[in-house]
Amino acid sequence: MSSGRIYIIGAGLAGLSAAVNLVARGARVTLIEGTNQAGGRCRSYFDAALDQVIDNGNHLVLSGNPAVNRYVQKIGAHAQLKGPEHARFAFFDATNGTRWIIRPNDGPLAWWILAPDRRVPGTQLGEYLAILKLFSAKDDARVENVISCNGPLWDKLLAPILLAALNTDPRTASARLAQAVIRQTLFKGGRAYCPRIASPHLADAFVAPALSFLAQHAADVILGKRVRKLLFADARVVGLELAGQSIALGPNDGLVLAVPAWVATDLVPQIDGPKGFRAIVNGHFAQPAPAGAEPIIGVIGGVAEWIFAFSDRLSVTVSGADRLLDEDRESLARQLWAEVAAAHNLTGPLPRWQIVKERRATFAATPEEDSRRPGPITPWRNLVLAGDWVQTGLPATIEGALRSGETAAELSLGAT
Ligand SMILES: Cc1cc2nc3c(=O)[nH]c(=O)nc-3n(C[C@H](O)[C@H](O)[C@H](O)COP(=O)(O)OP(=O)(O)OC[C@H]3O[C@@H](n4cnc5c(N)ncnc54)[C@H](O)[C@@H]3O)c2cc1C
Repeated sequence: MSSGRIYIIGAGLAGLSAAVNLVARGARVTLIEGTNQAGGRCRSYFDAALDQVIDNGNHLVLSGNPAVNRYVQKIGAHAQLKGPEHARFAFFDATNGTRWIIRPNDGPLAWWILAPDRRVPGTQLGEYLAILKLFSAKDDARVENVISCNGPLWDKLLAPILLAALNTDPRTASARLAQAVIRQTLFKGGRAYCPRIASPHLADAFVAPALSFLAQHAADVILGKRVRKLLFADARVVGLELAGQSIALGPNDGLVLAVPAWVATDLVPQIDGPKGFRAIVNGHFAQPAPAGAEPIIGVIGGVAEWIFAFSDRLSVTVSGADRLLDEDRESLARQLWAEVAAAHNLTGPLPRWQIVKERRATFAATPEEDSRRPGPITPWRNLVLAGDWVQTGLPATIEGALRSGETAAELSLGAT
């Protein structure tokens, strides 16, 4: 291994993953983050309106996400991911009040689709088998080019799952990325897709333990310093310019650029990257979850899509939510709360609330944007890219961000 230092720009999950993997291999690391806290699009903070700590948005990972498991094991945070031992997904239809629970069996042979009390109500076996067509889709195909986007299975399971995972209208989303989602879930067996939720907050599972791990391994972590410019010479990055400071990179030093696509393509205009993004809106309510509440409920036919239950709050996620960005915040909060109250059988006034709108939550998971994603290797010998937007074969997810951090760590050890 090189004797140089590896600089990482961006302390989102990709940058944290790169840093954790590098220090675990004995590398010297400096992690530079532009804001005053690590976590990026996956962060927790105190919200004055609710008078409690909340997450910017609810994040769901799955029991079988390999990079998630490697990361939380490494940083000692496995116990902070909570969820049921067997896959189980509760749904509520906001148009007529009906409820059902999908209970996939543990193993990869998906016999649950034959069991009327486990599968989606009103579905036929043929609808499930048709999903297989995604596996022969071309890279530029949209989901609607490959499978039927109608019927009970689509409305009650495929559309909500694909919308949540792709954060893009699932009809026009990339069939290749949809296939990656199905491969990680329905095809692995229920044991691999039990829901896992960071508890009590995102930071407890993904951020604070990583920062402790880095401190234990003598990494330098610099918060609140935005990198404004990269300096290049002889096919290498030779310097970084920060506000009021510059850092020279020595001949053995490496750089992992782990910033979002729009920052990376600004700092390094020769790099291509996704240009279209999609919003996610979250509504948070200071209402403790009722006793025995389902940890997540999928809502069909409402504005709310997934309701997450915590001991001190109920939180709602709406994906692909660009249409809501200009909505009045209070009327949105009232609308979402009406659906949360119905799903959880609650009465009473609107609790304290907060609406968080993330405009560029993820890149749009269309074939066009997917084709713009670069690999991690760049023409500059000591510069490697990381982030959920770098080509991982996965949509923009925690699993993708963590995997890209692992890959960047591996490559930069070899490149410096
Ligand atoms: C509301 C919401 C809900 C989501 N839900 C889910 C979910 O349920 N499941 C799931 O798997 N994924 C989910 N995601 C996606 C997931 O959060 C992202 O894929 C992941 O966090 C991206 O990590 P990243 O490190 O690639 O990017 P980022 O988190 O964007 O990290 C980049 C970091 O770089 C920093 N930075 C930027 N410019 C500079 C600069 N010039 N100098 C220094 N630092 C800089 C930023 O401040 C940031 O900290 C969700 C995202 C959002 C927003």
